[in-house]
Amino acid sequence: MSFWDVIVVGAGPVGAYLSRCLTERGYRVLLLDKKGKTGRRICAGVIGAEAFQRFPLPMETVLSSVRSITMVSPSGKRLRHTSRAPMAHVVDRVAFDRTILKEAVGRGVEFYNLSKVVGVERDPSGIKVVCRNGRDNEGVQHFKGAMAVFATGYNPGLLDALGLPGYPGAVVGIQSEALMEGVEEIEVYLGQRVAPGGFAWLVPMGDGRVRMGLVAQRDAKDWLFRFISSPVVSSRLVDEPGPIRAAWIPMGPISRTFGDRFLVVGEAAGQVKTTTYGGIYYGLLCAEKALNTIDKAFEKGDWGEGLLSFYHRAWWRLLGDEMEAGAHLRDMVVAMEDTDLDDLFVLLGSDGILPRLRATVRFDWHRESIRLLIGRVLKYAFETQGRVALRE
Ligand SMILES: Cc1cc2nc3c(=O)[nH]c(=O)nc-3n(C[C@H](O)[C@H](O)[C@H](O)COP(=O)(O)OP(=O)(O)OC[C@H]3O[C@@H](n4cnc5c(N)ncnc54)[C@H](O)[C@@H]3O)c2cc1C
Repeated sequence: MSFWDVIVVGAGPVGAYLSRCLTERGYRVLLLDKKGKTGRRICAGVIGAEAFQRFPLPMETVLSSVRSITMVSPSGKRLRHTSRAPMAHVVDRVAFDRTILKEAVGRGVEFYNLSKVVGVERDPSGIKVVCRNGRDNEGVQHFKGAMAVFATGYNPGLLDALGLPGYPGAVVGIQSEALMEGVEEIEVYLGQRVAPGGFAWLVPMGDGRVRMGLVAQRDAKDWLFRFISSPVVSSRLVDEPGPIRAAWIPMGPISRTFGDRFLVVGEAAGQVKTTTYGGIYYGLLCAEKALNTIDKAFEKGDWGEGLLSFYHRAWWRLLGDEMEAGAHLRDMVVAMEDTDLDDLFVLLGSDGILPRLRATVRFDWHRESIRLLIGRVLKYAFETQGRVALRE
């Protein structure tokens, strides 16, 4: 049996990019994916411009660039944020994933598709992953390496098999595409009657086609049908929406992303923005942290959980506060009645806080804006309750 330095499971953007970097550093890397054709079809494909500056991502897969986003309250009040330079890009997600994978393979990563990892065994000499091969998972194969990285996307079964704690929760992301007129910028819709526990979006792809989707905590398909037949969408539809696709998204990170001879990276580890659930950039940032720890493990010849825990601490230092602040805001918005949300839009539009918010807003980093926003909301609640108390 061949022996690999690192076995990476999952050839999404995070696993493929990590494999490429490992090969560039001289490691022997085996990359496995259960799918025959890689490239995720269920994605709004919106990736912050900062990610393209920081990582060698395929610009040729960009369909359009985002310079403005409008948020729409339950009663139709609008808040618009614009920027001169693109704040994000919308990609062809299938081409995006395949290009990253192609670059990894071009640099020497050995890639097997139709290889579904179904089990893991460890002994003092390494880690063995057990794979089912082929379209019908007919054959069983074993691969052995010094360590493994799991980048499988949302996967509660895998966490279970690795003895890791589960996700703090999950939402369903669901999406379709259609030709529409008059959708010139990203539109985000909030409210209990649009997407309970989440939000809905229209994302123009630049050629008249628009991704229409939502995340919701329950009945996502019903809510998507409602969204599509609501006047804001149906009045602008030029053709029938295409197939509907859905996937689970973790609501946040797991509390342990390492173990003896393995790391968990990307959406598999719940490394997503806890406000919008975008996971590509955070996953890549965490892959960078994984690389540093893997280097250290090989340098010391130690793949035990003590050393690999450095990875967990490193990514948490970078993203932990962001994720906690995002979850805080999300939970607050989820608990709000539609009328409260409308009031919040009025408050933001009227009391001079918007310019300050705009100054702090960054596409992938929300903590500063959240701090400002929550501070203002608390002040407002205090002031208005004070008035009520005085009247009484
Ligand atoms: C509707 C929707 C809209 C979204 N919009 C955005 C967005 O606009 N921007 C953004 O940044 N994020 C978005 N996301 C989230 C984003 O798609 C994920 O965060 C991202 O794909 C995570 O990348 P990854 O490489 O960690 O995992 P994935 O892209 O999920 O890749 C995992 C790979 O692992 C493989 N795999 C799984 N299990 C096994 C196994 N047992 N054996 C072998 N291989 C396996 C899979 O086949 C897959 O190829 C959206 C998600 C949804 C559902």
